[in-house]
Amino acid sequence: MPVPYFTPENIAKFRTLLQTAKHAVVVTHHNPDGDAIGTSLALTQVLKMLGINTTIIVPNPFPEFLHWMDGVQDILIYKHGHSRSKQLMSGADLLFCVDLNALSRMDALGKFIETLPVPRVMIDHHLQPEMKDFAVAFSEPGACSSAETLYHLIKDLDLLPKLNTLIAEAIYTGIMTDTNGFRHNCSRPEVFYTVAELLQYGIDKDKIYNAVYNSYSYNRMRLLGYALEKMIVLPEYRTAYIALTKEEIASYHFKPGDTEGFVNYPLHIKGIVFSVFMSENQENIRISFRSRGKFSANEFARQHFDGGGHLNAAGGISHLTVEETIAKFLQSLQEYKDELAAV
Ligand code: MN
Repeated sequence: MPVPYFTPENIAKFRTLLQTAKHAVVVTHHNPDGDAIGTSLALTQVLKMLGINTTIIVPNPFPEFLHWMDGVQDILIYKHGHSRSKQLMSGADLLFCVDLNALSRMDALGKFIETLPVPRVMIDHHLQPEMKDFAVAFSEPGACSSAETLYHLIKDLDLLPKLNTLIAEAIYTGIMTDTNGFRHNCSRPEVFYTVAELLQYGIDKDKIYNAVYNSYSYNRMRLLGYALEKMIVLPEYRTAYIALTKEEIASYHFKPGDTEGFVNYPLHIKGIVFSVFMSENQENIRISFRSRGKFSANEFARQHFDGGGHLNAAGGISHLTVEETIAKFLQSLQEYKDELAAV
């Protein structure tokens, strides 16, 4: 899929916003991942170089495997206390929404942002963006990651001379994590040209890979073992799913991000083209969807679980019990039997 170029009008409008801005806030989606955090950190560094005082605010904690990144110590977590975050957002003259396509992807934080008169800028790559929520939108549903979109934006603004090792490292982390270590969603040669350019800034790609992927705690590895043991395979639907209750998760001393990537494992089974991972928390059930080929995880998540994302990777939510969510999922799956057989 080609990546659409940003329109000159969008770039011009954005330049004007940048020229007058003094204080900016960068926000991301709920359960921020490597792309959300990497893109936010890179963007923050670029904005600071432009003389714009910038703070990152995320809805809830981010995974431990990102704690090594430069600048994460300054990220505010909205769930841990609203007053400082609200003060900063109210005082900002520019609000960046990174790796998210609609304010609804931020729960309580999104509801607060909706009440502010501050212009919002989207930097994102999810399908079906809610353009009306934003003053300027840099939306590239064909890009592998928001980090790649940010890189395009930096180029288009002629800001490449500002790039340094730390910014390149943050962008690389976003690209690497959203492609699951360059396995998915990176068939366009441009992704690798971008990576080649980033490597010229002296980043250590092996260090980044090890910090993100080879950093399981003992408990996280045991939780993965338990999840795989619990996996249900539905060969007639070429589907596998895993559902974990909050008690099960808590018994492995869960830390944010511990179940990240678990949804990918069922796809290692030959013939499986759709994988679903449900994890219960205090408020609801978060669901991850992964698919192969033309089968749309995005459509399934949108139709049945109030979510969305990308063709082969999407998220959704359920406010039912775990048993009811599984029952709803199995019911919903029935109408896709032929489609799944044809992948
Ligand atoms: Mn992303």
